[in-house]
Amino acid sequence: MSLDRRLTDLTALLHRIAVQYRACAFASSFGAEDMVLHDIIAKHALPITVFTLDTGRLPGETYALMDRVREHYGLPIEVYYPDARALEAYVRGNGINAFYRSVELRQDCCAIRKAAPLARALAGRDAWISGQRRAQSITRRDLAIEEFDAEHRLPKFNPLADWGDDEVWGYLRAHEVPTNPLHARGYPSIGCAPCTRAIEPGEDLRAGRWWWEQPEHKECGLHRRPLDVAVRVETLEAVS
Ligand code: SF4
Repeated sequence: MSLDRRLTDLTALLHRIAVQYRACAFASSFGAEDMVLHDIIAKHALPITVFTLDTGRLPGETYALMDRVREHYGLPIEVYYPDARALEAYVRGNGINAFYRSVELRQDCCAIRKAAPLARALAGRDAWISGQRRAQSITRRDLAIEEFDAEHRLPKFNPLADWGDDEVWGYLRAHEVPTNPLHARGYPSIGCAPCTRAIEPGEDLRAGRWWWEQPEHKECGLHRRPLDVAVRVETLEAVS
């Protein structure tokens, strides 16, 4: 499929989501895929709230991009933070870098710094959007464009699920979209600074995330799978 066709379909899908779900929100971590969605949402003035989770451990480059995006598009970005008391108790009991010691401690850190703020960010929404793609890792190979997020009881859209790397970067370059400079230094997927490193050529795109863990553990709880209801394209088409 050509990039133009991809773009037409993506824009139409985002328009339909915005019409059908008046309280929909886009969760951005300012990765390459997220920047495609930022650009289209801004250029088409789509009424989709943009939010991000500041874990407190993000790389400086991500914070710089967050500000750059705000200035570039002139649109508000809602920023959600971890609960201070829960985080203080975790660090007091386990140390500041406990996530390296076990999968459980890593998941606890992600639960406090990411999953709980995500739940607050999604409260009151009627749908949410992510920039996830199937090609990113083995944990995302069955990713659908539309799913039902059973944990948050919301429809969830992954509009770039079937986009390839070349298409994402083709769009970003053609439209001169701001991106995280870490991508050019070997970081295709960027999360918290202590849990992300550059990858080697040929490695899985998310190999640099929690590199000390087995691949099947490499999700942070934000996108738990499986989600329990399949694609409902007919519903969307009904409002187009
Ligand atoms: S990615 Fe690392 S630092 Fe960030 S929330 Fe998860 S375990 Fe904590």
